[in-house]
Amino acid sequence: MTFMPSWSSLDQLEALQAAGLQWTVGHAYGHSPFYRQHLQEAGVTPGDIKGLEDLKRLPFTTAEHLRQGYPFPLLSTPMEDVVRIHASSGTTGKRKVMSYTQRDLDDWAHMFARCYEMAGLTRLDRVQICVGYGVWTAGAGFQRGCELFGALAVPVGPGNLEMQCQFLEDFQSTVLCSTSSMALLLAEEVQRRGLLDRISLRKIIYGSERTSEAMRRRIIEGLGGVELYDIPGMTELYGPGTGLECSAHQGIHYWADYYIAEIINPVTLEPVAPGQIGELVVTTLRKEAAPLIRYRTRDLTRLLPEPCACGNTLPRHDRLLGRSDDMIKFRAVNIYPGQIDAVLSHSHGVGSEYQIILEPQGDGRERMVVRVERIEGASTADDQQVAAEIVRAIKAGILVSVEVELVDYGSLPRSDRKSKRVFDRRFEK
Ligand code: ZN
Repeated sequence: MTFMPSWSSLDQLEALQAAGLQWTVGHAYGHSPFYRQHLQEAGVTPGDIKGLEDLKRLPFTTAEHLRQGYPFPLLSTPMEDVVRIHASSGTTGKRKVMSYTQRDLDDWAHMFARCYEMAGLTRLDRVQICVGYGVWTAGAGFQRGCELFGALAVPVGPGNLEMQCQFLEDFQSTVLCSTSSMALLLAEEVQRRGLLDRISLRKIIYGSERTSEAMRRRIIEGLGGVELYDIPGMTELYGPGTGLECSAHQGIHYWADYYIAEIINPVTLEPVAPGQIGELVVTTLRKEAAPLIRYRTRDLTRLLPEPCACGNTLPRHDRLLGRSDDMIKFRAVNIYPGQIDAVLSHSHGVGSEYQIILEPQGDGRERMVVRVERIEGASTADDQQVAAEIVRAIKAGILVSVEVELVDYGSLPRSDRKSKRVFDRRFEK
């Protein structure tokens, strides 16, 4: 059995997307008071949407609309058709709560089974699921997709390294699903216990946080050459499992038969040129209970228009490069912290911890300082050369001139959550 789509040409995909777009707009307009008013205010009716070229006539939907509609935002079906809800962790304000019909859940499981198929699993694989279970989308998504695919699910949840190690050894789990932080902790624990030749782990599907190349390398090395697959996902769009990094490890194939992905400039709200970085905007094609019409995800990425080396024709976007709220404007150039950490990940002599400091220079101009740790045990002798190489790489890749400061390994603050990396002092008095 395959979970891959049955269409074979781009024309077929576009026809399917156009039909899904028309259905979604008609469904939302007909059944959701919010969407009806939202579309009316934008002067659009379902009859105006004749094809994909009309997508740009539709108004954006935002996280603010979800908050206003709490507790059941965007609801477009009668309550008796809703069979489950999930919620995001939402650190500020109200949680984002999304409703699902039975078909929404079946679609999500199908998408997730496709992830396991794309990662090359078989029904003999044993999948240790170390993500949060509960109201979050993660546990339920990984679990149901695994069962539909037909592999063996080992539902452990996060943390509890003792039990994780025991199960890796006793059950001979072949696949691990977790955050990248959890995978790194486990890699260190496996090393510390000398377990590597007693376990059979070969693939890790990880998600929910942006992960640098340097961190990926540490996980791969610590777990004896496992293959990593980045899985994107957000509560608003079903949950995790709406795409997957493929075996060529060049970006993420996304399930374009379930949603349309656009990339816009977060300031002008206009589409960016193909291949340029911007904010991901999604429109669902089949979602019943809480459809999304041009939903602004705030996630930054870019479409990868070239055919993929793996041979799969599903379209791709790059790994998530950060959030549009994190964008830095420096000397008229828009920069995302993810671009800086991409350069640092490819630089020799430095670790994965860094800070970006923006400050006035005194002559009315501004300067950017990238402060980065040397690798463990390195001396200061090579500082000048290492810094010069990073300056040159940032100039070449991001088109700005920066200053680079090297500091001792371990001297920048660590966090088990999100580390603050950008310090903008340009407007302080
Ligand atoms: Zn591929």
